[in-house]
Amino acid sequence: MTRVLNYINGQFQPALSGATIENIDPATGRVYGSLPQSNERDIEQAYDAAIQAFGSWRETTLEQRSAILYRIADLIEENLEELAQAESRDSGKPLLLAKTVDIPRASSNFRFFAHALTQFSSEAHESVGKNSINFTLRHPIGVVGCISPWNLPLYLFTWKIAPALAAGNTVVAKPSELTPVTAFLLAGLCQKAGLPAGVLNIVNGTGPSAGQAIVAHPKIKAISFTGGTATGAKIAGVAAPMFKKLSLELGGKNPNIIFSDCDYDRMLETTLKSSFANQGQICLCGSRIFVERPIYEKFKIDFVRRVSELRVGPPSEEVDLGAVISKDHKQKILGYIALAQKEGGNILTGGQETKLEQHPEGYYLQPTVIEVKDHLCRVNQEEIFGPVVTLMPFDNEEEVIEMANSVTYGLSASLWTSNLDRSMRFGQRLESGIVWVNTWLNRDLRTPFGGVKSSGVGREGGFEALRFFTEPKNICISYTP
Ligand code: NAD
Repeated sequence: MTRVLNYINGQFQPALSGATIENIDPATGRVYGSLPQSNERDIEQAYDAAIQAFGSWRETTLEQRSAILYRIADLIEENLEELAQAESRDSGKPLLLAKTVDIPRASSNFRFFAHALTQFSSEAHESVGKNSINFTLRHPIGVVGCISPWNLPLYLFTWKIAPALAAGNTVVAKPSELTPVTAFLLAGLCQKAGLPAGVLNIVNGTGPSAGQAIVAHPKIKAISFTGGTATGAKIAGVAAPMFKKLSLELGGKNPNIIFSDCDYDRMLETTLKSSFANQGQICLCGSRIFVERPIYEKFKIDFVRRVSELRVGPPSEEVDLGAVISKDHKQKILGYIALAQKEGGNILTGGQETKLEQHPEGYYLQPTVIEVKDHLCRVNQEEIFGPVVTLMPFDNEEEVIEMANSVTYGLSASLWTSNLDRSMRFGQRLESGIVWVNTWLNRDLRTPFGGVKSSGVGREGGFEALRFFTEPKNICISYTP
């Protein structure tokens, strides 16, 4: 049994109430551990530790702070095997994915911000002719809250924590209650790296209990949240009237637009990944595939054949798809597949649970491709967040831009074409925070990351994140010439 504990003021401890939640292994459907069910008392204690630590953490020199963050990055790398095993077990994702994507990226997040903090600088504006000069200082905010989801657990947790710490804040953070283990292991690594007690506090529990208490805490001044759009709206409802700084990275329903002039083989390989990586549970997955009419039938045959060959199985083995996160989520996805059929959609492959003999209670689903007739049907509009994609043909640019932009979301979009002018036209007109041309999930950590419309508010990444986690203060000095 894996017993996760809170990490507050450098100490590992259960919830003050003693309450726990069961942790379930998605691959088997069995309980394999527990985590604290924390509430506002635990958050208060974490806040006290964080505010206590803030005074000295904000005064550490950039070199000292950077060195500690580099050490954390190194320790993540040194413990890659253990962390990847834990991530795969906790979330159901294939072990290979955890080893090659999740954990390396968690280390890169710390490494990136360890360096970035030494390059981040304030600005000065000389008011020429007015004998005045303005200095804009960027001070850390104080104690900030970071709340992350289950789909890329350590990857997204560290994507918030690293810049928050780099900017000189102290942190009260909560991983998803469905995937708490790697955050727990990270706490041990931070301790080993010499991160002072209270600088990072990790509190576990459900959203309505521990998460809500972070958001509602009157002295936690900024909230960085990644998760569902409905949760984001709830959080904004609590935090906005308290004038907290908010970064919200929310859901997506991303278009994958394929033109006949694309590099077909490259597109097909990448589209398999952008559709089904991590069982389709990546906010950036291209869940709506639009294919230009001349290659539509060919694509349909090739894609469906390749999808039906994908291996679904225990995440610890060499598989393409592991288990989805929970029983509820599995049911939700199956509900959308049933709805698609009611709406006149045609299931081209998949559509069922995969029952594994060795793990009959695990949460496995076949990768599913649904041909839809109407881009406005619900399965084409609502986020399913599972191994399900829709397929539709299109005839011209105007039509596909209209269909791509028809959803309330606007996180990312992929375009496949060899026409440079077209890629610029689409880049300008697609309503999303990120547009990939002839690629997918191609990330440079310096670039702004985030969505428009219901996909969120604010940007993470690079200096954008350091700006979010600092408060600008302008000092204007008038001098006698
Ligand atoms: P979720 O919104 O249910 O939960 C996310 C986190 O918020 C969890 O830690 C949860 O405990 C907490 N939470 C829930 N209710 C809360 C409340 N009232 N107050 C404070 N915290 C609360 O999302 P999820 O199911 O864990 O993740 C899936 C969603 O995340 C999908 O919609 C996906 O698109 C989105 N996502 C977005 C991005 C992005 O960068 N835009 C990245 C990954 C996932």
